[in-house]
Amino acid sequence: MTSEERCRRCGISCHPAVRLGQLRVVIPGVHCQFLAYEPNGESRCTVYANRYEQAPWCLSAEEAGREHLLSRDCPYHEGWDDPEGKTRLHPRLLREKAPAIAKQILAEGVPRWVTAYGVENILRAAGYEVLGTRFDENGFRRYQVSDIKPVPEFPVVSIHEEPSD
Ligand code: SF4
Repeated sequence: MTSEERCRRCGISCHPAVRLGQLRVVIPGVHCQFLAYEPNGESRCTVYANRYEQAPWCLSAEEAGREHLLSRDCPYHEGWDDPEGKTRLHPRLLREKAPAIAKQILAEGVPRWVTAYGVENILRAAGYEVLGTRFDENGFRRYQVSDIKPVPEFPVVSIHEEPSD
């Protein structure tokens, strides 16, 4: 079996991680702009053949593994789990942790290659209204938001919402 055949198309390596205590958590909808999902839930890189030209931020599986950027139980690890690897949260836990995740995003920004709609969804789920964004000198997208608002019915927006087009 080639290393690529071991891939289970989860797409986790194409999501940036947010630090939450000891965990590196990926957020649904917050991923590389070139990642797409098939109707069966499998992910697909839309520029795979030319990814290093079109997506200079993209790393090989070996590089990503060394930097703990694969999922904890990614088959690329060949039989061992990386406790520092990325993980998904159960949707209920993700909703509970939305304010902490939003705080982290507001403090650190997100890489410029990340889909902005997913970030805005998680910020809205935490009660923040996004007023605008800008890029800082390190190429990170930073958010200007209104003060946190009381959220009568939580979450305001589904954090799994994907754009329809
Ligand atoms: S360019 Fe790289 S990071 Fe982006 S979707 Fe393709 S494989 Fe993933």
